[in-house]
Amino acid sequence: MPPSRSVVAAGTLLAALCAALPAAGAARAAGAPLAERELEVTRLAEGVYAMTWQDPLQDPIEGNSLVIVNDEDVVVVDTALLPSTTRRLIAELRKITDKPARYVVNTHWHDDHHGGNYLYRELWPEVTIVSHAATRPLILEHTYRPRPGILEEYEQAAARFTRWAETGLDDEGKELVERRRKRAGELAAFYSMAVVELAQQREMPPDLTFTDQLVLQRGARTIELRWLGRGNTAGDIVVFLPAERIVATGDLLVYPIPFCFGSYYAEWIDTLAAVDALPADVIVPGHGPVMRDRAYLHTVQELLRAIVAETKQAVADGLTLEQAKEKIKLPDWKAKLAPEDSNRGPAFDAFVLSPAIERAYRQAKGENPGEGRV
Ligand SMILES: [Zn+2]
Repeated sequence: MPPSRSVVAAGTLLAALCAALPAAGAARAAGAPLAERELEVTRLAEGVYAMTWQDPLQDPIEGNSLVIVNDEDVVVVDTALLPSTTRRLIAELRKITDKPARYVVNTHWHDDHHGGNYLYRELWPEVTIVSHAATRPLILEHTYRPRPGILEEYEQAAARFTRWAETGLDDEGKELVERRRKRAGELAAFYSMAVVELAQQREMPPDLTFTDQLVLQRGARTIELRWLGRGNTAGDIVVFLPAERIVATGDLLVYPIPFCFGSYYAEWIDTLAAVDALPADVIVPGHGPVMRDRAYLHTVQELLRAIVAETKQAVADGLTLEQAKEKIKLPDWKAKLAPEDSNRGPAFDAFVLSPAIERAYRQAKGENPGEGRV
């Protein structure tokens, strides 16, 4: 620890969240199994259910899902990361209906939203997996291609931290104080779990893609998949139910801390404005609880405006990247989104400051940092 920069840059949230783990996992006993996440299933309209994780920052971080039960079949939005998580989502789906899943929609390429695709295909071979056209190649390049290396790194980390926890000595033979030994036990549990889970995953990329809009008419139900512009990634899509006035945003909206990896900050502001303009009463974010107003959406827009403005100013003032990173710490935003009693400080640093300032600075300079990279 911390995980190597190359793994974080590869874009897996699982790796990125490890940077925040010291705070998130502090309460666990050494070597104890990870606490089970609490899943909330909320009926939003006839046949429409949000599946959201009660603590969005509990590791390992998992994406929300939306289940839409139609006359003959089911459309599922996002499939989570770990096989055990996806199996829980499917078990909940089967409590709701015995109709088959016909479409799986991936809102974007981060693997906490598509890792479980293969489990839906295993159960329902006819299922079609849909994403934006930009998302499919990003899944291949930034989640499937680096996976063997990540798995190897996690195996090594699991072995190392298990050794540290058992012997009380680090790699140099130095004795670990109690706090660090406990922490090593927590990390050993985390990486051991991750290795077992990731080793089960099978690649199952989208097989139907679109660029602007795709409408799924499933019996009486109209489901609009829309690309409203780049934002958190190049291919973020929203799933809009016009009759039910519900929209699922993927990670264009993440509560309580936006995930700012590899994003298009200036465009994201406008894309959120397009989400805001949709006639919807209910928002299902990529992470966090169901929202019934636009307050948080506007908050994220304001944060993005601050990131864009401050990095632009840094470039105008002739600051180097290192100087800009040193200067821009967004203390007011940290106080607002990660109050001191919230334990969210490390998440703000890992999910906002660390990825966004460098990338927004490069964008302000007119550089193209590419997708999947800080
Ligand atoms: Zn996500």
